[in-house]
Amino acid sequence: MEKKPYTSLNAYYRSLFGRKIAKISLDGGFTCPNRDGTLGRRGCLFCSAGGSGDFAENASLSITEQISRGKAQTADKWPDAAYIAYFQAFTNTYAPVEELRRRYEEALACPDVAGLSIATRADCLPEEVLDLLEELSCRTRLWVELGFQTAKEETAQRIRRGYGNHVFEGAVRALDERKIPVIAHVILGLPGESREDMLHTIDYLNGLPIQGVKLQLLHVPADSDLAPLYQSGQYTPLTKEDYITLLGDCIARLRPDIVLHRLTGDGDKTTLLAPLWSLHKRDVLNSIHRSLRERGIFQGKDFTEA
Ligand code: SF4
Repeated sequence: MEKKPYTSLNAYYRSLFGRKIAKISLDGGFTCPNRDGTLGRRGCLFCSAGGSGDFAENASLSITEQISRGKAQTADKWPDAAYIAYFQAFTNTYAPVEELRRRYEEALACPDVAGLSIATRADCLPEEVLDLLEELSCRTRLWVELGFQTAKEETAQRIRRGYGNHVFEGAVRALDERKIPVIAHVILGLPGESREDMLHTIDYLNGLPIQGVKLQLLHVPADSDLAPLYQSGQYTPLTKEDYITLLGDCIARLRPDIVLHRLTGDGDKTTLLAPLWSLHKRDVLNSIHRSLRERGIFQGKDFTEA
Protein backbone atom coordinates (compact mmCIF):
# COMPACT_ATOMS: atom_id res chain seq x y z
CA MET A 1 0.00 0.00 0.00
CA GLU A 2 1.28 3.40 -0.93
CA LYS A 3 2.50 5.60 1.90
CA LYS A 4 0.97 9.01 2.26
CA PRO A 5 3.21 11.98 3.00
CA TYR A 6 1.26 13.26 6.03
CA THR A 7 -0.58 11.91 9.04
CA SER A 8 -3.73 10.69 7.36
CA LEU A 9 -7.02 10.71 9.17
CA ASN A 10 -7.52 7.02 8.54
CA ALA A 11 -4.18 6.24 10.14
CA TYR A 12 -4.86 8.59 13.04
CA TYR A 13 -8.19 6.90 13.78
CA ARG A 14 -6.61 3.48 13.57
CA SER A 15 -3.95 4.55 16.06
CA LEU A 16 -6.75 5.62 18.46
CA PHE A 17 -9.34 2.91 17.89
CA GLY A 18 -7.43 0.03 16.29
CA ARG A 19 -10.06 -0.34 13.58
CA LYS A 20 -11.61 1.39 10.61
CA ILE A 21 -13.59 4.46 11.61
CA ALA A 22 -16.19 6.09 9.38
CA LYS A 23 -17.82 9.43 10.05
CA ILE A 24 -21.58 9.84 9.69
CA SER A 25 -22.66 13.41 9.01
CA LEU A 26 -25.74 14.42 10.95
CA ASP A 27 -28.19 17.29 10.95
CA GLY A 28 -29.32 17.75 14.53
CA GLY A 29 -31.99 20.26 13.53
CA PHE A 30 -30.12 23.24 14.98
CA THR A 31 -29.85 26.71 13.51
CA CYS A 32 -27.08 29.30 13.68
CA PRO A 33 -26.84 32.84 15.12
CA ASN A 34 -25.77 33.93 11.66
CA ARG A 35 -29.06 32.58 10.28
CA ASP A 36 -31.73 33.10 12.94
CA GLY A 37 -31.36 36.89 13.12
CA THR A 38 -29.21 37.03 16.28
CA LEU A 39 -26.17 38.13 14.25
CA GLY A 40 -27.69 38.04 10.79
CA ARG A 41 -30.04 36.18 8.47
CA ARG A 42 -27.96 35.53 5.36
CA GLY A 43 -25.24 33.41 6.94
CA CYS A 44 -21.56 33.43 6.13
CA LEU A 45 -20.82 34.54 2.57
CA PHE A 46 -20.19 30.97 1.40
CA CYS A 47 -22.84 29.20 3.47
CA SER A 48 -25.32 27.05 1.58
CA ALA A 49 -28.98 26.65 2.48
CA GLY A 50 -28.03 23.43 4.29
CA GLY A 51 -25.83 25.30 6.75
CA SER A 52 -22.58 23.99 5.24
CA GLY A 53 -23.73 20.47 6.01
CA ASP A 54 -24.72 19.39 2.54
CA PHE A 55 -23.82 15.75 3.08
CA ALA A 56 -25.54 15.48 6.43
CA GLU A 57 -28.50 13.18 6.78
CA ASN A 58 -32.05 14.53 6.73
CA ALA A 59 -32.98 16.63 9.78
CA SER A 60 -36.56 15.32 9.69
CA LEU A 61 -35.19 11.93 10.79
CA SER A 62 -34.21 11.20 14.37
CA ILE A 63 -30.51 10.99 15.20
CA THR A 64 -30.90 7.21 15.53
CA GLU A 65 -32.48 6.96 12.08
CA GLN A 66 -29.82 9.18 10.55
CA ILE A 67 -27.08 7.01 12.00
CA SER A 68 -28.78 3.82 10.79
CA ARG A 69 -28.95 5.23 7.28
CA GLY A 70 -25.32 6.36 7.40
CA LYS A 71 -24.22 2.90 8.55
CA ALA A 72 -26.25 1.19 5.83
CA GLN A 73 -24.48 3.29 3.19
CA THR A 74 -21.02 2.14 4.29
CA ALA A 75 -21.77 -1.38 5.54
CA ASP A 76 -20.77 -3.15 2.31
CA LYS A 77 -17.50 -1.26 2.04
CA TRP A 78 -16.49 -1.40 5.72
CA PRO A 79 -18.44 -4.19 7.44
CA ASP A 80 -16.31 -4.00 10.62
CA ALA A 81 -16.18 -0.23 10.98
CA ALA A 82 -17.07 1.78 14.06
CA TYR A 83 -18.47 5.27 13.68
CA ILE A 84 -17.97 8.85 14.72
CA ALA A 85 -21.29 10.70 14.90
CA TYR A 86 -20.47 13.99 13.23
CA PHE A 87 -22.87 16.81 14.07
CA GLN A 88 -22.12 18.83 10.98
CA ALA A 89 -24.95 21.05 9.74
CA PHE A 90 -25.37 24.56 11.18
CA THR A 91 -24.17 25.27 14.76
CA ASN A 92 -24.30 22.18 16.90
CA THR A 93 -23.94 23.76 20.34
CA TYR A 94 -26.57 26.43 19.68
CA ALA A 95 -29.53 25.19 21.74
CA PRO A 96 -30.47 24.78 25.41
CA VAL A 97 -27.99 22.47 27.09
CA GLU A 98 -30.56 19.75 27.89
CA GLU A 99 -31.59 19.61 24.25
CA LEU A 100 -27.95 19.27 23.25
CA ARG A 101 -27.50 16.50 25.78
CA ARG A 102 -30.47 14.57 24.36
CA ARG A 103 -29.10 14.68 20.82
CA TYR A 104 -25.55 13.73 21.79
CA GLU A 105 -26.71 10.94 24.11
CA GLU A 106 -29.00 9.55 21.42
CA ALA A 107 -26.02 9.33 19.06
CA LEU A 108 -23.80 7.68 21.66
CA ALA A 109 -26.49 5.09 22.43
CA CYS A 110 -26.43 3.81 18.83
CA PRO A 111 -24.52 0.53 18.29
CA ASP A 112 -20.93 0.94 17.04
CA VAL A 113 -20.80 4.70 17.65
CA ALA A 114 -17.34 5.18 19.13
CA GLY A 115 -17.23 8.95 19.47
CA LEU A 116 -18.61 12.37 18.61
CA SER A 117 -17.38 15.22 16.48
CA ILE A 118 -19.29 18.44 17.04
CA ALA A 119 -19.01 21.34 14.59
CA THR A 120 -19.77 24.74 16.00
CA ARG A 121 -18.85 28.40 16.24
CA ALA A 122 -16.34 29.80 18.73
CA ASP A 123 -18.99 32.24 20.01
CA CYS A 124 -21.46 29.45 20.85
CA LEU A 125 -19.67 27.74 23.73
CA PRO A 126 -21.10 29.09 26.99
CA GLU A 127 -19.93 27.66 30.30
CA GLU A 128 -22.79 25.15 30.69
CA VAL A 129 -22.14 23.76 27.19
CA LEU A 130 -18.43 23.49 27.93
CA ASP A 131 -19.30 21.58 31.12
CA LEU A 132 -21.48 19.17 29.12
CA LEU A 133 -18.73 18.65 26.53
CA GLU A 134 -16.19 18.00 29.28
CA GLU A 135 -18.48 15.45 30.88
CA LEU A 136 -18.94 13.66 27.54
CA SER A 137 -15.24 13.74 26.74
CA CYS A 138 -14.52 11.85 29.96
CA ARG A 139 -16.45 8.84 28.66
CA THR A 140 -16.12 8.93 24.88
CA ARG A 141 -13.85 10.26 22.16
CA LEU A 142 -14.95 13.80 21.47
CA TRP A 143 -13.70 16.46 19.08
CA VAL A 144 -14.99 20.01 18.76
CA GLU A 145 -14.67 21.47 15.26
CA LEU A 146 -14.49 25.25 15.09
CA GLY A 147 -15.20 27.08 11.83
CA PHE A 148 -12.35 29.58 11.91
CA GLN A 149 -11.59 29.98 8.17
CA THR A 150 -9.00 32.77 8.45
CA ALA A 151 -6.86 34.72 10.90
CA LYS A 152 -7.21 37.89 8.84
CA GLU A 153 -9.81 39.97 10.65
CA GLU A 154 -10.63 41.97 7.52
CA THR A 155 -11.50 38.78 5.63
CA ALA A 156 -13.47 37.46 8.61
CA GLN A 157 -15.63 40.58 8.40
CA ARG A 158 -15.96 40.28 4.62
CA ILE A 159 -17.21 36.70 4.88
CA ARG A 160 -19.47 37.67 7.84
CA ARG A 161 -17.92 35.20 10.28
CA GLY A 162 -19.43 37.25 13.06
CA TYR A 163 -16.70 37.22 15.74
CA GLY A 164 -13.09 38.34 16.16
CA ASN A 165 -10.00 36.21 16.58
CA HIS A 166 -9.96 36.87 20.34
CA VAL A 167 -13.26 34.95 20.63
CA PHE A 168 -11.76 32.00 18.76
CA GLU A 169 -8.69 32.05 21.00
CA GLY A 170 -10.88 32.13 24.12
CA ALA A 171 -12.86 29.10 22.89
CA VAL A 172 -9.72 27.13 22.03
CA ARG A 173 -8.19 27.81 25.42
CA ALA A 174 -11.41 26.96 27.28
CA LEU A 175 -11.61 23.64 25.42
CA ASP A 176 -7.92 22.97 26.01
CA GLU A 177 -8.35 23.54 29.76
CA ARG A 178 -10.97 20.79 29.63
CA LYS A 179 -8.68 18.56 27.53
CA ILE A 180 -11.13 18.53 24.62
CA PRO A 181 -9.35 18.26 21.25
CA VAL A 182 -10.06 21.04 18.78
CA ILE A 183 -10.15 20.80 14.99
CA ALA A 184 -9.93 24.21 13.29
CA HIS A 185 -11.55 24.64 9.88
CA VAL A 186 -9.54 26.78 7.44
CA ILE A 187 -10.68 27.82 3.97
CA LEU A 188 -8.15 28.52 1.23
CA GLY A 189 -9.07 30.93 -1.54
CA LEU A 190 -11.28 33.35 0.41
CA PRO A 191 -12.01 36.60 -1.46
CA GLY A 192 -9.17 39.11 -1.20
CA GLU A 193 -6.72 36.71 0.48
CA SER A 194 -3.12 36.41 -0.66
CA ARG A 195 -0.81 33.42 -0.19
CA GLU A 196 0.80 35.33 2.70
CA ASP A 197 -2.60 35.78 4.37
CA MET A 198 -3.26 32.04 4.20
CA LEU A 199 0.19 31.19 5.56
CA HIS A 200 -0.37 33.70 8.34
CA THR A 201 -3.51 31.76 9.31
CA ILE A 202 -1.41 28.59 9.63
CA ASP A 203 1.22 30.43 11.72
CA TYR A 204 -1.54 31.79 13.94
CA LEU A 205 -3.03 28.32 14.49
CA ASN A 206 0.41 26.84 15.17
CA GLY A 207 0.55 29.13 18.21
CA LEU A 208 -2.64 27.75 19.71
CA PRO A 209 -3.38 24.44 21.52
CA ILE A 210 -5.29 22.79 18.68
CA GLN A 211 -4.96 19.15 17.69
CA GLY A 212 -6.40 19.05 14.17
CA VAL A 213 -7.01 21.13 11.06
CA LYS A 214 -9.38 20.80 8.14
CA LEU A 215 -8.00 22.56 5.10
CA GLN A 216 -10.62 23.13 2.47
CA LEU A 217 -11.16 24.86 -0.79
CA LEU A 218 -13.67 27.69 -1.01
CA HIS A 219 -16.70 26.43 -2.91
CA VAL A 220 -19.33 28.59 -4.56
CA PRO A 221 -22.74 27.05 -3.83
CA ALA A 222 -25.53 28.40 -6.05
CA ASP A 223 -27.61 29.23 -2.98
CA SER A 224 -24.90 31.27 -1.20
CA ASP A 225 -24.21 35.00 -1.27
CA LEU A 226 -20.88 34.20 -2.89
CA ALA A 227 -22.69 33.05 -6.05
CA PRO A 228 -23.55 36.53 -7.41
CA LEU A 229 -19.99 37.71 -6.74
CA TYR A 230 -18.68 34.77 -8.76
CA GLN A 231 -21.22 35.23 -11.54
CA SER A 232 -20.40 38.93 -11.89
CA GLY A 233 -16.66 38.24 -12.02
CA GLN A 234 -15.94 39.83 -8.64
CA TYR A 235 -14.71 36.55 -7.22
CA THR A 236 -12.40 34.15 -9.05
CA PRO A 237 -12.07 30.65 -7.54
CA LEU A 238 -8.67 28.99 -7.20
CA THR A 239 -7.44 26.81 -10.02
CA LYS A 240 -6.59 23.22 -9.18
CA GLU A 241 -2.88 23.93 -9.62
CA ASP A 242 -2.97 26.98 -7.35
CA TYR A 243 -4.95 25.16 -4.69
CA ILE A 244 -2.54 22.22 -4.62
CA THR A 245 0.47 24.51 -4.39
CA LEU A 246 -1.10 26.57 -1.58
CA LEU A 247 -2.17 23.43 0.24
CA GLY A 248 1.40 22.09 0.14
CA ASP A 249 2.72 25.42 1.42
CA CYS A 250 0.27 25.27 4.34
CA ILE A 251 1.07 21.64 5.20
CA ALA A 252 4.79 22.39 5.11
CA ARG A 253 4.17 25.20 7.59
CA LEU A 254 1.79 23.31 9.90
CA ARG A 255 3.00 22.16 13.33
CA PRO A 256 3.87 18.48 12.84
CA ASP A 257 1.64 17.19 15.64
CA ILE A 258 -1.51 18.75 14.14
CA VAL A 259 -3.56 16.07 12.35
CA LEU A 260 -4.92 16.89 8.92
CA HIS A 261 -8.58 15.96 8.92
CA ARG A 262 -9.27 17.24 5.42
CA LEU A 263 -7.24 18.18 2.36
CA THR A 264 -9.97 19.37 0.08
CA GLY A 265 -13.69 19.98 0.23
CA ASP A 266 -16.72 17.97 -0.75
CA GLY A 267 -18.95 20.17 -2.86
CA ASP A 268 -22.57 19.23 -3.43
CA LYS A 269 -22.62 18.64 -7.18
CA THR A 270 -26.29 19.60 -7.42
CA THR A 271 -25.60 23.15 -6.24
CA LEU A 272 -21.86 23.74 -6.80
CA LEU A 273 -21.17 26.53 -9.30
CA ALA A 274 -17.39 26.49 -8.97
CA PRO A 275 -14.70 25.26 -8.90
CA LEU A 276 -16.03 22.23 -10.76
CA TRP A 277 -12.62 20.52 -10.87
CA SER A 278 -13.09 19.85 -7.15
CA LEU A 279 -15.87 17.35 -7.88
CA HIS A 280 -13.26 14.84 -9.14
CA LYS A 281 -12.13 14.11 -5.62
CA ARG A 282 -10.05 11.00 -6.30
CA ASP A 283 -8.15 12.81 -9.04
CA VAL A 284 -7.64 15.84 -6.79
CA LEU A 285 -6.33 13.71 -3.91
CA ASN A 286 -3.98 11.82 -6.23
CA SER A 287 -2.65 15.11 -7.57
CA ILE A 288 -2.17 16.44 -4.01
CA HIS A 289 -0.25 13.33 -2.96
CA ARG A 290 1.92 13.49 -6.07
CA SER A 291 2.69 17.15 -5.49
CA LEU A 292 3.51 16.65 -1.79
CA ARG A 293 5.87 13.82 -2.67
CA GLU A 294 7.57 15.74 -5.47
CA ARG A 295 8.04 18.76 -3.22
CA GLY A 296 9.34 16.61 -0.34
CA ILE A 297 6.68 17.87 2.05
CA PHE A 298 6.23 15.43 4.89
CA GLN A 299 4.21 16.21 7.96
CA GLY A 300 4.41 14.29 11.21
CA LYS A 301 4.63 10.54 11.22
CA ASP A 302 4.43 8.70 7.96
CA PHE A 303 1.69 6.17 8.58
CA THR A 304 0.72 3.52 6.07
CA GLU A 305 -2.98 3.36 5.44
CA ALA A 306 -4.45 -0.10 5.59
S1 SF4 B 1 -21.49 29.63 10.97
FE1 SF4 B 1 -21.75 27.81 9.67
S2 SF4 B 1 -23.97 27.43 9.57
FE2 SF4 B 1 -23.67 29.51 10.39
S3 SF4 B 1 -23.84 30.82 8.57
FE3 SF4 B 1 -21.64 30.39 8.87
S4 SF4 B 1 -21.20 28.54 7.61
FE4 SF4 B 1 -23.45 28.74 7.83
